[in-house]
Amino acid sequence: MAENNMLITKEQIIQWLAKSAAILNENKAYLTELDSAIGDADHGANMARGFNAVLDKLPAVADKDIGTLLKTTGMTLMSSVGGTSGPLYGAFFMRGASAVAGKAELNADDLGQLLADGSSGIVQRGRAEVGDKTMVDAWLPAVAAFKTALADGKDISAAMQLCVDAAEQGMRSTIPLQAKKGRASYLGGRSIGHQDPGATSTYLLLKALLDTLE
Ligand code: ADP
Ligand code: MG
Repeated sequence: MAENNMLITKEQIIQWLAKSAAILNENKAYLTELDSAIGDADHGANMARGFNAVLDKLPAVADKDIGTLLKTTGMTLMSSVGGTSGPLYGAFFMRGASAVAGKAELNADDLGQLLADGSSGIVQRGRAEVGDKTMVDAWLPAVAAFKTALADGKDISAAMQLCVDAAEQGMRSTIPLQAKKGRASYLGGRSIGHQDPGATSTYLLLKALLDTLE
């Protein structure tokens, strides 16, 4: 049985957001390339702009609790990301923030709740299901894998590794799918054969969290 008493500090949450900004900036051209195949070629710019705006806002709330940090992140993404993904990622961080309101550190169950509530926020807002070729194809298997790992007695890092593996698989699972939601759905059958940009940025965000915990 693995030890599950590791705690995620507020500093690590700040590092996660900073690392997310770095990874999204590094992958800006890649995300844009994916979005140019089945969308309007702005997903890289949208995500980089959004997380750069988050980085600008963080110093002002760095002394607040994790819930406040994540709520600020969500509100900043909603207001700074043009495009569908802004309100969806905004919903993730706002709903996730509510799950950990007032906390200065998170245990494994807190993180599980943050991920579960946050991804439910995305589903409620966008009404996509697994198989619709959206970020939900990465989020839902990832969150399920995290919960299963905790139930199996894995520690936070090991559970997060399985979560990221599932997100990566979910991301790749979008390639053969026909898009049913969002801009890519306008292409009908021509959306088949391309990896979904939003599922890719979701994988990158979760990977940034794993990197932060290691
Ligand atoms: P836009 O489509 O407005 O240009 P982006 O390019 O930033 O916005 O984001 C596109 C991504 O948003 C898609 O790759 C997909 O993952 C995600 N997306 C679009 N619609 C939905 C939805 N209804 N539910 C979940 N995710 C969605
Ligand atoms: Mg786009």
